[in-house]
Amino acid sequence: TAVGATAVDGAGAPLTPVLTRRWAAPESWTLASYRELGGYRALPKALGVEPARVTELVKASGLRGRGGAGFPTGMKWSFLPPFDPAAPTPRYLVINADEGEPGTCKDIPMMMADPHSLIEGAIITSYAINAPFCAIYVRGEALHCLRRLAGAVREATAAGYLGRDILGSGYDLEIVVHAGAGAYICGEETALLDSLEGRRGQPRLKPPFPAVAGLYASPTVVNNVETICSVPPIVLHGADWYRSMGTEKSPGSKIYSLSGHVTRPGQYEAPMGTTLRQLLDSAGGMRDGIPLKFFTPGGSSTPIFTAEHLDVPLSFDDVAAAGSMLGTTALMCFNETVSVPWAVWKWLEFYKHESCGKCTPCREGTGWLVQILHRIVTGDGTAEDLDTLTSAAANIAGRSFCALGDAAATPVLSSFKWFRQEYEDLVTGVTPPLVGDRALGAG
Ligand code: NAD
Ligand code: SF4
Repeated sequence: TAVGATAVDGAGAPLTPVLTRRWAAPESWTLASYRELGGYRALPKALGVEPARVTELVKASGLRGRGGAGFPTGMKWSFLPPFDPAAPTPRYLVINADEGEPGTCKDIPMMMADPHSLIEGAIITSYAINAPFCAIYVRGEALHCLRRLAGAVREATAAGYLGRDILGSGYDLEIVVHAGAGAYICGEETALLDSLEGRRGQPRLKPPFPAVAGLYASPTVVNNVETICSVPPIVLHGADWYRSMGTEKSPGSKIYSLSGHVTRPGQYEAPMGTTLRQLLDSAGGMRDGIPLKFFTPGGSSTPIFTAEHLDVPLSFDDVAAAGSMLGTTALMCFNETVSVPWAVWKWLEFYKHESCGKCTPCREGTGWLVQILHRIVTGDGTAEDLDTLTSAAANIAGRSFCALGDAAATPVLSSFKWFRQEYEDLVTGVTPPLVGDRALGAG
């Protein structure tokens, strides 16, 4: 099905369907449909110039990584050691399609609706970095995606877009689609590489970054699906066109994922710097007219925002200046009926389950946070628990081996910033227990 086909309509946000423009087309995932709608036209253009020129173009476009961190894409490609055609050494492109951040649901619809745009982007990127091999690492639960991508790779190979001497350019490329086994940590790029190599997926120490020592210890670019899908339109229309959308430091078009108490949840593609208020206008507003209480700008790993932040431009720098992170632009919207401590408890259950166990602060700490939060929401918490909770979270943040530990501490710390009173009301009995035998409505 063409997932997200209904999502690019409405008024409010200045919608820019660049990445999503084919999603509603009949059988949009087929090669025939992709070609009919302008697909595989960027590839000959890219193959007609030196690889370094493609990297320069992407640098000039200002494209920043769409996996969450917003690292400049062209700069990341240029970190690879210089390529010597006379003595080629292994180098790889790995596409992170392990989308797992709570609330994030842009890459899987993208791959389902328009797999060839990822493949065209992968070929151009591999060419730009002189890689003869590309792996697409798909989240374990998304086997439907794996099948769709594998079908698209077969179609592209049969049509001469992949394999030997692509379009007579002399460039060869193999793409392999690989399924993970459903671990959130395998979305962390170095854990992903370990998993791809056949080992248990756990983060590696950085540096060295993958650009220096990645897959099989060779120079590797790891990029997110949405990042790679942004490459063909940049090659086709140029850096200035791309910079005509978005903000100066966060140019381009972005897929925003709206979920939660929203009238029409879904994927809304708009320029970087669009606000949640504009996006909600496009999405029919908050469901049943119940006002927004809090939201995540970019998934549960990013500090929560409140209704006061509805007009913050959703770009990397503007969100950072307002005290959070753009992350994956997963805008989970919660209305006034939701208890913040309850939502935080649920998120922490997730992080505890997904902690890989490699380092002590996260392995032990996420368990403690869940235990304390459980006491609070069941009405067994004490005032001392609030101090222990914030102190434990503050000691996990910045002391864990990878970003998952920081992410787990974030919902606790950011919710205390805005909604501490809700925790206090639960431990003093002003608010009745939310779950358990003594919760209202229990039994
Ligand atoms: P990071 O800032 O450490 O790195 C970002 C990218 O830049 C990486 O590819 C890294 O290799 C590269 N990089 C950074 N400095 C470099 C250097 N000096 N030399 C070479 N390369 C360099 O961030 P991260 O830990 O990779 O990602 C964190 C983000 O992931 C968070 O912002 C979060 O929003 C996001 N996230 C996304 C998902 C998802 O499902 N998409 C899930 C969890 C977290
Ligand atoms: Fe594993 Fe958590 Fe440590 Fe990351 S922070 S290495 S997920 S235990």
